Amino acid sequence: MGNYRGGVASATVIHLRGSDATPVVPRPRPVIDWFGDGSLVVVDLAMACCAIESEFAVPAGALHRSDVPEGARVVVVVSGTVTDLLAPEVAAVIAGLPGPHVVAFGSCACAGGPYWDAYCVTKGIDQWVPVDTYVPGCPPPPRALAEVVDAVRGGRRPDAPGVLGGVPT
Ligand code: SF4
Repeated sequence: MGNYRGGVASATVIHLRGSDATPVVPRPRPVIDWFGDGSLVVVDLAMACCAIESEFAVPAGALHRSDVPEGARVVVVVSGTVTDLLAPEVAAVIAGLPGPHVVAFGSCACAGGPYWDAYCVTKGIDQWVPVDTYVPGCPPPPRALAEVVDAVRGGRRPDAPGVLGGVPT
């Protein structure tokens, strides 16, 4: 388990502003070397308020890198509300990464959250990309994300019932 930083981190990697009328094309930015050893990097697609929670999960020893180290495992975290306008951009970013473990972080990313009936909100990013782990909650707990990352690094399936994996609640 990584150590929580206990404050707002500056670890968000790619920002896509969900409220914009025009999609913000993501630019290459550093990825989070979660354990500081090049074994696993996290790309956080920060869409809305869940991104605050995901930033809290970043361990104190994490580093920023300009690219994915060779051989590193990749975890992509979609944090927050995704609109139908931005969903293709999110999918394109994920498609450009090597074999990522995709995490839908928060009820919005899992199934639309409190905006599930809004015409413009994607009812779950799994409509666009395969999702490996669902972390429900509004907001979801940062600790749950840290546990997912730890499990992926250890080659375990992060599937604690009701919290990680399976059907979003
Ligand atoms: S799940 Fe809740 S906290 Fe997360 S982005 Fe949606 S409204 Fe915000």
